[in-house]
Amino acid sequence: MMKFRTMYSKIARRIRWAANDVFFTAGLRRVDALLDSPGQCILLYHGIDRAGRKDLNRRFISLAELDAQLRFFKDHAQVVSLRDFFAGRFDPSVFTLALSFDDGYRNTLDYALPLLDRYGLPATFFLTAVREAGFDYLWTDFLDLCSRLYDLPVRIEGIDYQKKKKRGDYHHPDGRKLRDIARTAPWPFKQAMFKAFTANGAFREAADLRDYWEQMSQADILRLAASPLAEIGAHGYWHNNLASLPFEDACQELHDCKRFLESVSGRRVCALSYPDGSYSPQLVDYAAQLGFERQLVVNFRQPSDARDARLRARLTINPTISIENQLIAIQSGKY
Ligand SMILES: [Zn+2]
Repeated sequence: MMKFRTMYSKIARRIRWAANDVFFTAGLRRVDALLDSPGQCILLYHGIDRAGRKDLNRRFISLAELDAQLRFFKDHAQVVSLRDFFAGRFDPSVFTLALSFDDGYRNTLDYALPLLDRYGLPATFFLTAVREAGFDYLWTDFLDLCSRLYDLPVRIEGIDYQKKKKRGDYHHPDGRKLRDIARTAPWPFKQAMFKAFTANGAFREAADLRDYWEQMSQADILRLAASPLAEIGAHGYWHNNLASLPFEDACQELHDCKRFLESVSGRRVCALSYPDGSYSPQLVDYAAQLGFERQLVVNFRQPSDARDARLRARLTINPTISIENQLIAIQSGKY
């Protein structure tokens, strides 16, 4: 029943989006009228690419799409820093946005920062510490790319993972997706996964794929820190799903990530976004003790969390819809 309801609401949403697109194209609705009333929203972007290849990363938007969105925000809303957003330092009669970019991609430095400079918009960039551990990619992007580029079965910790269809996900023999297993598995499992796929080939040799995985280097983080428009925030050490880890391990990740980013950037790191939006009340308390004054999730675990002054929810940008539908979602705070 639940599954049917979810499917129904997905279809209804697609119909609504298609109808909106028809209305805007026919001139029956005006884009200029969007974001013209008071409201607030923190936006969550991931990576940016030049080519608009949604098949390579479903979380990325293209440079052209980001440019169009930021230009619209510049003209129709007020964009404030996360610090000002949390402190309520803005004109409440105008639609107010704070921008954030998760995952520490090099492409956000190369493509997003110049646009933010051009339009004079502040943003917070949430980075991990995988560079300190000698990695230049996140496990999520590694698996995304491998799932699209490889077809051979892979053996991880004695289990053979197979694909059901080309370009699809790898599955455990019991049907679970490798992606879902890896999300909550400890780091040694992810290392075994890297090894298994590396034996099958390597995506990193292809220059045109760099946008889809390359993390900022320490020199890049310094360049980012030098921008007066950019704030650096923490996004976990390894990009592990923190609430599913033993509490002590999750605390260690938060501590080590903060230490790494502060030592590299030379700036205090007071903002935190939870990987996968995964948090717990205990983690929020611990992070606050560490000095994370601004903590970001995607969905609140319970409605009362909305009253916690340390926490805010974000709206994740949907790379597959038109700018008009995206703006409608931003205005209403949901899809
Ligand atoms: Zn992330």
